[in-house]
Amino acid sequence: MSAAAYDVVVIGGGPAGYPAAIRAAQNKLTVVCVDQWQNFDGSYAFGGTCLNAGCIPSKALLESSELFHRARHEFATHGIQIGEVKLDLAGMQKRRASIVKTMTGGILALFKSAGVVGLQGHGRVLKGNHVEITAPDGSKTVVVAKDVILASGSTPVRLKSVPHDGKFIVDSWNALEFDTVPARLGVIGAGVIGLELGSVWRRLGSEVTVLEATDQFLSVADQTIAKEAQRHFKKQGLDIRLGATVLNASVDGTAVNVAFRDAKGEHTAQFDKLVVAVGRRPFTDGLFAEDTGVKLDARGFIEVDAHCRTGVPHLWAVGDVVRGPMLAHKGKEEGIMVADLIAGLFGEVNYKVIPSVIYTAPEIAWVGLTEEQVKAGGRPYKVGTFPFAASGRARAMEAAQGMAKIISAVDDDEILGIHVIGPMAGELIGEAVLALEYSASTEDLQRTIHAHPTLSEAIHEAALAVDKRAIDSINR
Ligand code: FAD
Ligand code: NAD
Repeated sequence: MSAAAYDVVVIGGGPAGYPAAIRAAQNKLTVVCVDQWQNFDGSYAFGGTCLNAGCIPSKALLESSELFHRARHEFATHGIQIGEVKLDLAGMQKRRASIVKTMTGGILALFKSAGVVGLQGHGRVLKGNHVEITAPDGSKTVVVAKDVILASGSTPVRLKSVPHDGKFIVDSWNALEFDTVPARLGVIGAGVIGLELGSVWRRLGSEVTVLEATDQFLSVADQTIAKEAQRHFKKQGLDIRLGATVLNASVDGTAVNVAFRDAKGEHTAQFDKLVVAVGRRPFTDGLFAEDTGVKLDARGFIEVDAHCRTGVPHLWAVGDVVRGPMLAHKGKEEGIMVADLIAGLFGEVNYKVIPSVIYTAPEIAWVGLTEEQVKAGGRPYKVGTFPFAASGRARAMEAAQGMAKIISAVDDDEILGIHVIGPMAGELIGEAVLALEYSASTEDLQRTIHAHPTLSEAIHEAALAVDKRAIDSINR
C-alpha cells in the first residue's frame, strides 16, 4: 500500500505549528498537522504549551487574581464599599479551564475552515521526508510530504537536586492548576514564569519566596525598568532573594524542605509547594530518526538558518525548538514565514523587533535594545522618560506607577529601544513595535497625535522628553 502524500506535514500544533499549517493551507497546499499534547485528564488538544499550559491559562489567572486583589485593596479608594471579598478558587480555576477549552477547540475550527487535516498522535520524521504518525491507540501510518515543518516546542528544565514529583515539587503547568492556595510558596527562578506565577499566588494569599541564582534582577530587561519593577514587587510582598543557589530540596510527606546558599551563608526554608521555573529546553524526544541528518546545537536546539531551514532539503524547524526567544509570537511569525517560503512567496522574520511582555502588575514590556546594550555598542544615545504619575488616565485608573522610556541615537534620531513599566504596558508596546519596524525616528513619534487622556500619551511624552521638550513632566 502506498503512503498518503501531502505537500506539507507539520509536527506540533502549538503557536508555531498551527499558524504554519493554516498559512500553508491558505497558500493552496495540502497540509497535515499532527500533535501529541495530552492534558492531565487524558484528553488531547491542539495549541501546545501556550494555549494549554502557558500564555493563556497564566493570563486568565493573572487577570482573576488581579481583580481579587483590587476588589480587596483598591475598591474602597474608588469609593466602592463591597464588604468582605471571598475567594472561590474552584470557580476561578473553572473559568481558566473553560477559556483554555474554548481557545484550543477554536484551533480545530480554524483547521476545518482552512482545510488542514489535524491529527492527534506522535510524529516522527524518517529519511526522505516520510513522517511516521503513531495514533493514540498505537497504530502507525506513514505519510510522505514534500516539506516537513518541525514545531515540537519546549519543556521545563528540571533540576536534579530538586526532584519533580508533580505534587509538592512542581513545574509551571502544575502551578497553574493548584486547587488550594499554598500558604507558603517557594519559586526557584525570578524569570518571567517565576514573577507571573509568583504574582498570581501572592495576590491570592500565599507567602511567596523566590530564589534566584543571579545577583542581578531581570538581567534581560533595561535596568532602570528592572529596578522600578523590583521596588514594586517588594512592596507587593514578593520576597525575592538574589544570588541564592539552591543546594537541594526534599519532600517530607507534607511539605518541601529546601537548602540554599546566598551571600549571607547557608539557609533552610520550608514550603507547601515549590515551583521550579529555571527556564525551558527544546523538546526533540523521538522527533526524528537518526539518519535524517537533522543537527542539534550544544543546547539541544535544532540548528537552522535565518529562514528556519535545517540544512536537510525541505525540512524546516520553527518556534521554541530553534534558537531565539521562547515566545509564542516569535514562533508564529517563523511558522508563517516558512509556510510562505515553501509556497515560493516572500518570507522574513525581523528578529531585531520582537516584543517582550511580563504580565505582572505593573506590566513590563519592551522592544529593541536596552540602555545597557546601547551603551556597550558605543553609539552615542539620548534618553527620555515619562512617569505614569503624570498621566491623567493612569491616575483615573488608580494605576499611576512606572514609566515609559525611549532610547534614541544622537546621530540620526533613530529609536533604538522602547521600554514600559506600567498599566497595560503589553498593549502600549504595540505602537513601539510598529515604530521600530518602520525605523521611526523620535521626531516621528513626537509629531504623531496621541488621544487624550490615554496611557499612550506616555509614549508620546517620553519621545518629547528625549529632546527635553516634554510638556506634561519636568525635563531633566
Ligand atoms: P509548543 O507550544 O510547546 O507546542 C509544541 C507542540 O508540539 C506541543 O503540543 C507538543 O505536545 C507537540 N509535539 C512535540 N513533539 C511532538 C511529536 N513528535 N509529535 C507530535 N506532536 C509533538 N509566550 C508568550 O509569547 N507570551 C506569554 O504570555 C507566555 N506565557 C507563558 C507562560 C507559561 C507558564 C509558559 C510555560 C510559557 C509561556 N510562554 C509565553 C511561552 C510560549 O508558551 C512558548 O514560546 C510557545 O508555546 C512555543 O510555541 P511552539 O509551538 O514552538 O511550542
Ligand atoms: P527564564 O529564562 O525567564 O527565567 C529563569 C530564571 O531562573 C532566570 O532568572 C535564571 O537566572 C534563573 N535560574 C536558572 N537556574 C537557576 C537555579 N538553579 N536556581 C535559581 N535560579 C535559577 O525562564 P522561565 O521563567 O522558566 O520561562 C521559560 C520561558 O517561557 C522563557 O523563555 C519565557 O520567554 C517564556 N515565558 C514567557 C512569558 C511571557 O512572554 N510573558 C511568560 C512565561 C514564560
